Amino acid sequence: MNHARPSAPSCVLMRHVVPLAFAVAASASGAAHAVLNIGSHTNQTQSQLTTQQHANAIQNELQRISGRTVILTPGQDVNQRSIWTVTLGAQIQARAHGNTLVTALINSARTTTIVADAGLAGLGGGGVTFCANGPTRALLNPPACLATNAGAGAGTDAVVAINTAKMPSNMTDPDAPFYILFGHELVHAWHATVGQRLAATGANEARTIGNYLGLAPPVQNAALPPGITVNENLLRRENTLQNNAPLNCRHPTNTAQYPAPVPPNATC
Ligand SMILES: [Zn+2]
Repeated sequence: MNHARPSAPSCVLMRHVVPLAFAVAASASGAAHAVLNIGSHTNQTQSQLTTQQHANAIQNELQRISGRTVILTPGQDVNQRSIWTVTLGAQIQARAHGNTLVTALINSARTTTIVADAGLAGLGGGGVTFCANGPTRALLNPPACLATNAGAGAGTDAVVAINTAKMPSNMTDPDAPFYILFGHELVHAWHATVGQRLAATGANEARTIGNYLGLAPPVQNAALPPGITVNENLLRRENTLQNNAPLNCRHPTNTAQYPAPVPPNATC
């Protein structure tokens, strides 16, 4: 699957990179910005915009991931298009890693925008995630989005274009229920916001998926802020099928393989 891969090298839309010092200050101050939005990216045509119906369906999937009620507050983005800002309410069920992920995106100094875009849906199983400037997708990975040998980038905004045809999640599919694929894209978005995206697609995918216990070679973990550890296999570990059976894991370097969880605890 292609996730936030660099595509047409015609333009780089990321222009306003917030300096790292500001990012650290904003983070350290504990200022919480409600900046996880459901909306539309700048290049969507008027007839393809994310609708209230999409927002409601996405709300349900975010509740599965976070284990908490999801509240949507309607508003407008910089392009005067409808957005629904996400906040979390009471716990419905314990989903420690999913809650960590969604909470981190909400509290980030960066904006993540989840969009319904049928034109991009075919590019990935669950969707495609882009480094961004507000609701404007960056068509190449800007340096601020990337981790290099010198360390993390400053972080960017993110746009997550999801495959709406996969909603609602199939709760009897142990391999690729939508909410897990969606969670995978949100992990990509989180990496973008903290400048931890890797330019090499295989390595970037591997640490977005994470290790599973049956695999010997360790996957390099992204360096995330203190207290935050999240990847796709951790989301798989804390969820179950409708009949309470465990989900399968995902192979970090062969992303089409879904190995069974490892006994005796049957976890990824
Ligand atoms: Zn991916």
